[in-house]
Amino acid sequence: MKRKVYDNHGRLINYVRLAVTDRCNLRCFYCMPEEGIEYVAKEDLLTYEEMDRLITLLAGMGIEKVRITGGEPFVRKDMLEFLFNLCKIPGINKVNITTNGTLTAPIVGDLKKMGIHSVNLSLDTLDPDRFFEITRRNVFPKVMETFDALINHGMPTKINAVIMDGKNTQDILPMVQLTKDYPVSVRFIEEMPFNGTGDYYPKLEWNYQRIIEHIRESYPDLEKLPDPPNSTSYNYQIPGHQGSIGVIAAFSRTFCGTCNRIRITPQGMLKTCLYDDGVFNVRDIIRAGATDEQLHATFAEAIGNRAKNGFEAEKNRQFGFPASESMSTIGG
Ligand code: SAM
Ligand code: SF4
Repeated sequence: MKRKVYDNHGRLINYVRLAVTDRCNLRCFYCMPEEGIEYVAKEDLLTYEEMDRLITLLAGMGIEKVRITGGEPFVRKDMLEFLFNLCKIPGINKVNITTNGTLTAPIVGDLKKMGIHSVNLSLDTLDPDRFFEITRRNVFPKVMETFDALINHGMPTKINAVIMDGKNTQDILPMVQLTKDYPVSVRFIEEMPFNGTGDYYPKLEWNYQRIIEHIRESYPDLEKLPDPPNSTSYNYQIPGHQGSIGVIAAFSRTFCGTCNRIRITPQGMLKTCLYDDGVFNVRDIIRAGATDEQLHATFAEAIGNRAKNGFEAEKNRQFGFPASESMSTIGG
């Protein structure tokens, strides 16, 4: 029988988010400062061999789903080969990717062929000028090429849009309108305080409720869809539209009660909550010569001591809050 692992709050843990690099070719202002962040030295990043070993080990503990994120996954060399091997690890039945889409269009066919289950494309606006303002890079057409390639290859696609007061709230309705003609899920995400500067807005102007109300004003027939188990989004559909809409209360943290995921950062830190500042460094343990049994026991102990929710994890941070991390070192 397949193994399963539960945390100390009775939640089944079957999902890992692996940030394969902290490097990125964009500078989204909610994630990184304009000058970038101090990147982790190359030798301190987990190697592909180490990541393969970890995912194989976690699959043996009951992890079934992996999301590859970053930084931008496709700025790391030989990523396709790594993904190809990852898709073949026994027990892993879903490999998903989150990407900014700047380098992704030419390889969508390869991703589909190797068995990538779905792609989340980050796109906060459909307006090229606002795209530049938000990401500080002039590559909107490249991202739209990726959008087209995902649709043309029939890749299950979600669009991630972080909603920010004074920046892109005028994009909410045009992005909702995308769901009319395209079978995509457009997900509006509350901004979280991980922009790499430590600046913090204690009051979120656009929380999930305000986003939903705003959509409903223009689409009074907005229909609630059942939320899948462990879903982080409240899901909706407009009758007659091909796609759907999701709203993610990432800062309000309404979904912690069913959280089924752990995270591994590019430098090998295990996070059992997005809001914690790391439980142990798995890279150090591997490089000190740990056996699989020792690694298994260390993961099991960490999973057995998870914070109840993101508020408790935030309170327990050793390095305090507001956080100075960039989301590119966490993976979202
Ligand atoms: N570079 C890839 C991308 O942008 O899709 C993957 C890494 S990125 C850190 C993963 C996701 O986190 C993206 O959808 C991004 O929009 C989201 N994200 C980054 N910073 C955020 C923040 N401060 N609040 C909410 N979401 C954020
Ligand atoms: Fe890069 Fe993604 Fe962060 Fe934007 S959100 S700066 S694309 S890692």
